Amino acid sequence: MKRLEQKIVQEGIVLNENVLKVDSFLNHQVDPQLMLDIGRTFSQLFEGEGVTRVLTLESSGIAPAVMAALQMNVPLLFARKRKSLTLKDDLYTENIYSFTKQEESEVTVSRKFLSSVDRVLIIDDFLANGDAALGLARIAEQAGAKVVGIGIVIEKAFQPGREKLIEYGYRVHSLARIASLSEGKVIFATDSGD
Ligand code: 5GP
Repeated sequence: MKRLEQKIVQEGIVLNENVLKVDSFLNHQVDPQLMLDIGRTFSQLFEGEGVTRVLTLESSGIAPAVMAALQMNVPLLFARKRKSLTLKDDLYTENIYSFTKQEESEVTVSRKFLSSVDRVLIIDDFLANGDAALGLARIAEQAGAKVVGIGIVIEKAFQPGREKLIEYGYRVHSLARIASLSEGKVIFATDSGD
């Protein structure tokens, strides 16, 4: 997505060769027009998949995921990182290792909102090693739901996430693919990875 790539070039901050900071439009302040465009693009990419729910992880996945859900006219469901006060019996839970915090956390989704009739589109802001997306997929599968695809806003193609997701048989689309963050510069991949 050209507009997203331009925004990354203009406003992204390369923290080191593995981490990109995009807190001016995605991870802290949010650019709603860009998110709407992102939502439209995901909706087009996964058209015909019969998506019934969009699933993401709080908090950074919510902005792009809600726009995708809006375009698809389905609910957005976000997995919570904090333990809920309700009984565990009411929850699907998974441990997910956080790339940025470098620690595992328990994420939960209420059984009320996900079931075996669902066709789930997983959306996340970044793809690095694939742990967040795979954890969300395991939650959907605990519910007996079908994961119809994984949509990523920014994929770091030099990290192994995509290969892992493909190995597990998931359909993956990302809107910007970064080939390298070396020497403080963002270099985009020339192919879509599909
Ligand atoms: P993974 O689980 O694929 O290893 O990493 C994806 C998750 O880690 C995303 O949910 C995202 O929040 C975070 N993440 C991974 N890499 C980056 C990055 O370069 N920048 C930011 N801001 N977040 C990242």
